[in-house]
Amino acid sequence: MNEVKRCTLCGGEADAAGMNGEVPLAKCRACGFAYAAVPDSEIAATNRCGEETTDRYRRLQSGFDLAWFDWLVGRFPGTNVLDIGCGNGLLLRRYQRAGWNVAGVDPAPWAQSDDYRVFTDMDQAPLDFYDVVMCTSVLEHVPNPAKMLRQALAVARPGGVVYMSVPNFDSWVARCRAERMRPQSAPYHCNFFTARDLRHLCKQAGARSYRVRSYGVPLAWDFWRKHRMKATAAAAAAPKTEQNASCPTWKHRLVVKAYYWAAPWRGDKLELRVKK
Ligand SMILES: [Zn+2]
Repeated sequence: MNEVKRCTLCGGEADAAGMNGEVPLAKCRACGFAYAAVPDSEIAATNRCGEETTDRYRRLQSGFDLAWFDWLVGRFPGTNVLDIGCGNGLLLRRYQRAGWNVAGVDPAPWAQSDDYRVFTDMDQAPLDFYDVVMCTSVLEHVPNPAKMLRQALAVARPGGVVYMSVPNFDSWVARCRAERMRPQSAPYHCNFFTARDLRHLCKQAGARSYRVRSYGVPLAWDFWRKHRMKATAAAAAAPKTEQNASCPTWKHRLVVKAYYWAAPWRGDKLELRVKK
């Protein structure tokens, strides 16, 4: 029998944990982390985005991402930001508009830009330099997440912030339908983090000061409320149309609010904030 791939978080021995579609899963005996038990080369090949285009990437991004990025830009103080996995630069352009010096890391040829520097590898970024290092929706795609966090911490200046976000595999949705949360045909997402795993990751990377929390519907609620306030003002000024009628009703708001208050650790995503 073949040996199961060792834990991508702590390097410990793991047991096979069944199949998710065509992707074999593993669970670490030491730390309990769940991940796709496939070779690193297969993960790299699946996630290679060199052949894809900025248009395809843009189609994957929702209105929620745009609002969320706008909110992220104002969250941490500083003037220099590095975005790991910057893609088409959606987040970096927002930072640029707010007056920051920006740079990105992305191996995809289409991520290169004339508007800012894009490193193709983490090794090219200056050490101990950035006030803020962003890394959103990246950690679930890489074969070695602990190495990525260590690299992110290395390029942050002392006192700077590393901010990462990943899907939450302890969310209500994941608890009800874990198989739907994981890719069925290829290891596109290969690491299935819970809040406990992110805290463990920080210890692995030697981080001293960090905070993990879940979001998703809670944050969506904030944006929804703001949108609703704008929509209400517009509706008061304009004659009643079908579009105005599609504003969330008090029933919708009640359901979202109940989800928010009842599930502080069950949001769709997890965010990790590490202070260097
Ligand atoms: Zn482990």
